[in-house]
Formats: sequence, structure tokens, C-alpha cells
Amino acid sequence: MPTSIINYKSVVIKQQKCRLNRSGLYDTQRWRKESRLFLKLNPLCVECLAYNITEQARVVDHILPHNGSEELFWDAANWQSLCTQHHNTKSAKEKKKRVY
Ligand SMILES: [Zn+2]
Repeated sequence: MPTSIINYKSVVIKQQKCRLNRSGLYDTQRWRKESRLFLKLNPLCVECLAYNITEQARVVDHILPHNGSEELFWDAANWQSLCTQHHNTKSAKEKKKRVY
């Protein structure tokens, strides 16, 4: 029955969206490609630069936490380059702030 296939597909798409809304966006080829390009264009950690330290950035960080919002996630204006240390510090702070 074609209708049941359509129903099945929409359920799968819903499930995939749920997974994407968590952290799955990072697992996409698009993110890998775009974040790599961003780091190429912005190779230095912005937090370190604020202290006149030149440190190679390893992570593309979201300035405003996207919390699963694809709009915020893909908005390059919301991206910044961070070194691993600064990214870990920021992520730890954000986790503390988050209210469940
Ligand atoms: Zn840094």
C-alpha cells in the first residue's frame, strides 16, 4: 500500500529530525565542510586573541547556544573560532546555566 509507505517515511523523517535537533547536526557532512572552511578563514581562537595570544582554533563555536535551533546552528554570523580549552570552558559554563 503506497499510503502506508508514505506514513512510514514521515515517521522516519520525524525521528531523524529529533536526532538532528540534539547533536546530530554536528554529524552532517554539511557541518564538517562548513566548519572546516570557517576554521580555514578564521584560524585563530578569538578568546585567546582578546589576550593577544595567538592560538590555533580547533572548534567552531556557536556564540548564542543553538539548543537545537537549525536557524542558529547554520547562521555563520553566530559562529566563532575557539581553541579546545576555551571551547570546553564555554561549554561547561553553558551547561551550568541551562535550566531543565
Ligand atoms: Zn583560546
